[in-house]
Amino acid sequence: MKGLLLLSLLVPAVLCQKLFVGDQVLRINAESEEQIGLLRALEDQEDLELDFWLSPISSDLPVDVRVPFASLPAVKVLLESNNIPHYVMIKDVQELLDQEKSEMEASKGKERGSGGFNFGAYHTLDEIYTWMDTLVAEHRGLVSKVTVGNSYEKRPLYSLKFSTGGTRRPAIWIDAGIHSREWVSSASAVWMANQIAADYGRDPSVTSLLDAMDVYVMIVNNPDGYVYTHTSNRMWRKTRSANPGSSCRGVDPNRNFNAGFGGPGASTNPCSEIYQGPRAESEAEVRSVVDFIKNHGNFKSFISIHAYSQLLMYPHGYSCGDVANAAELDSVAKSAAEALSSVYGTSYRVGSICNIIYPASGGSIDWSYDSGIKYSFAFELRDTGRYGFLLPASQIIPTATETWQALRHIVEYVRDHPY
Ligand SMILES: [Zn+2]
Repeated sequence: MKGLLLLSLLVPAVLCQKLFVGDQVLRINAESEEQIGLLRALEDQEDLELDFWLSPISSDLPVDVRVPFASLPAVKVLLESNNIPHYVMIKDVQELLDQEKSEMEASKGKERGSGGFNFGAYHTLDEIYTWMDTLVAEHRGLVSKVTVGNSYEKRPLYSLKFSTGGTRRPAIWIDAGIHSREWVSSASAVWMANQIAADYGRDPSVTSLLDAMDVYVMIVNNPDGYVYTHTSNRMWRKTRSANPGSSCRGVDPNRNFNAGFGGPGASTNPCSEIYQGPRAESEAEVRSVVDFIKNHGNFKSFISIHAYSQLLMYPHGYSCGDVANAAELDSVAKSAAEALSSVYGTSYRVGSICNIIYPASGGSIDWSYDSGIKYSFAFELRDTGRYGFLLPASQIIPTATETWQALRHIVEYVRDHPY
């Protein structure tokens, strides 16, 4: 009886975190449009509960899909009977998650011992927000914390502001973590924010940048989703808002901006990972950023950081035609990718969102570009698929270090090309 009681107390704590025991991530290299069609049909089969990390778009691009253990036989039979080339990229998703969790715990222990912050570890939202306060306290007169708004679940949306004075100086916007499972984007933003603070007065490039412009860094753009990836479901991507009439929650905030809203590459199904929402800017997280940028009125660059695939992109996503500044944006992005690659040889592909990956409407950098912020870019950080969203923490600092070189190139260019 006592044992049963104890068990019933323990069960909820265990159950609240979704497990992925035996789930595999398959890399599929379709060889024809016909095979892509078959994969698309799989996408619509909701009973299989497949989670496409990279959707079937064309036979030029790989498809990554997390297949729940129970669906593996059916999916593998389909792939094999149709001769669709594939291999197992992640053998057991839960194994990687367990490792990730134990690394976080170990790092926490070390941080308690040293009183320091481990930039080479993943952190919870509370830990990141506490670290932000520490950074502000250590760099008064340079770094402050701005509340941009509140999330659906009423968490504050913070941006760090780096400024040496003036009012409404021309500014650069950098955000990360709009898709909550892309942990390395926020972890890299933490490292880079720290770097900007440390480099002012020491590095001539950062110093001259901050003497002329302000920099805003929003480390966690989707805090509700981010908390949910830590407490309940590591694979969560969207916001956490309720969808009336559906049991599925959340909107893809990067389909919810008012730029080609409702166009290609977005879904009207609330259960989809790319659900666009009931209307443009329906999400508090999106609306807050839009209002903040509009009220400020002097942003010259808007950079959004995602993972994964190693891409540096510029508008548009909602249409494949060239934007007016395509040639300039392409050349800035190419040089930035070269700067990135010079650190560890990591290679990035460069192009417009629509041309380099796929049409995607309602995206943030399309909105910023169409709102007059010419230097709008989006990064997809490491890797190209060995670990996907589950990039080991040992790669955080290398990822941030190389990305910083690309970002530096972009912000220097923006500083030197006022408009
Ligand atoms: Zn993303």
